Amino acid sequence: MKTNQFISQNELDEQKRIALALSKEIEPRGLTFFVETFGCQMNVRDSETIKGWLCEIGYTEAEDKESADFILFNTCCVRDHAEKRLMGNIGALKELKDARPSTIIGVCGCMMQQEGVAKKLLKRFPHVSLVFGTNVLHRFPSMLQTVLNGERIAVTDRADDAIAEGLPKMRDNLRSAFVNIMYGCDNYCSYCIVPYVRGRERSRRPEDVKREIVSLVSSGISEITLLGQNVNSYGNDGSTGMHFADLLRYVSDVPGLRRIRFMSSHPKDLNDDVIRAIAEIPNVCHHVHLPVQSGNNEILKRMNRRYTREHYLSIVQRLREAVPDIEFTTDIIVGFPGETEEAFNDTMSLVKEVGFAAAFTFAYSPRQGTVAARMEDQISEPVKKQRLSALNTLQAEKTVENNEKYIGHVGEVLVEGCDCRGEATMLYGKYPNFKMVYFPGDPILLNRYVTVKVTKTNKNSLLGEMIHA
Ligand code: SF4
Repeated sequence: MKTNQFISQNELDEQKRIALALSKEIEPRGLTFFVETFGCQMNVRDSETIKGWLCEIGYTEAEDKESADFILFNTCCVRDHAEKRLMGNIGALKELKDARPSTIIGVCGCMMQQEGVAKKLLKRFPHVSLVFGTNVLHRFPSMLQTVLNGERIAVTDRADDAIAEGLPKMRDNLRSAFVNIMYGCDNYCSYCIVPYVRGRERSRRPEDVKREIVSLVSSGISEITLLGQNVNSYGNDGSTGMHFADLLRYVSDVPGLRRIRFMSSHPKDLNDDVIRAIAEIPNVCHHVHLPVQSGNNEILKRMNRRYTREHYLSIVQRLREAVPDIEFTTDIIVGFPGETEEAFNDTMSLVKEVGFAAAFTFAYSPRQGTVAARMEDQISEPVKKQRLSALNTLQAEKTVENNEKYIGHVGEVLVEGCDCRGEATMLYGKYPNFKMVYFPGDPILLNRYVTVKVTKTNKNSLLGEMIHA
């Protein structure tokens, strides 16, 4: 049985002490921060911790980069051209730093964990003073203190096994929150950089997850999304004494918790226990984001996904039998090395067969350091582009089909926002199964639950009317 390591309370207390000491200097000066986040929900969650620290240190949030005293980019290395775009963003801040030398510019996130990137960045951009990776957020006050003392630093340790509990958080969203249940990934899909930059898989203790949820719900949040690179392998290393389905049951009884979502799921680990949990627990939402990546077995093997097309389809079928109103969303990569026309057609036929509510589609692009980047039979850019466009056309048709079945549907919607640009104010929010609906209403209903009936659909969304507030 594996035992996870935790950052010690002494170490955390020391960081809190530094934060408090810094706040005595920073707060009276009225200094501000601006954090720009790229990438996935993991990064959004990390930024909440960094912003939490910055608030403890005495900063307040600025409206924009230009007016901020501390500017931080939280980077992502999963998508194409991210590094180039980031370099452009940082380069553009040189003028600002020249005009106001006291401004601190920092860069953090997964991209900084990539071999050599942090050092390269400090060398290329003398106006950047702080660079850190994903595993050292608990040391933010001491890193910032060093920078405030005039040094430039890069901290990208791989504390693979250590979990830090009790870090501060600043959450903007008053109705929904992301809650990490695990960190890192052990799967090594051949195209993916995440296991190299976020380290080995480790699960949080169930009681820590629940404590965080209780505190969120007591602050008014009623929808949580349990986060992990592969939530279905929660506790598989034996470190927590429970698996993902048990965790769903364990946290579901928090009074006031109306919706539980989770992402992402890995098809190789989504088992019947999880299917039963989704079907039986009333506040678990009927939506699964289940990345398929390809519909061809040979390509799935080359991707090291460790499931087959047949296995994937059987999960979809079993979930639909157990939970008839469930919706699936997915991620798909086209143009993976070695993808023949026939293999691509297998992906197209799977998309037709499943009828995803939505799909996030990508043309394969090599990530340095991954196995797939070294594969010989790379696909040409024009072919990738043409396949991506064919897939997107098909998915657009499937989205319209999927939307049409909702005409007349009545269900509970959590109001997420409003669009006040047109003549009538349109509110929008999601049904539990992740379908978004737009309807006329008063912005006072923001963050509340209302009942909405779907009256019309358009290409991408549902339109409805509120029948109960
Ligand atoms: S499961 Fe695969 S795609 Fe997802 S983070 Fe892990 S290695 Fe990357």
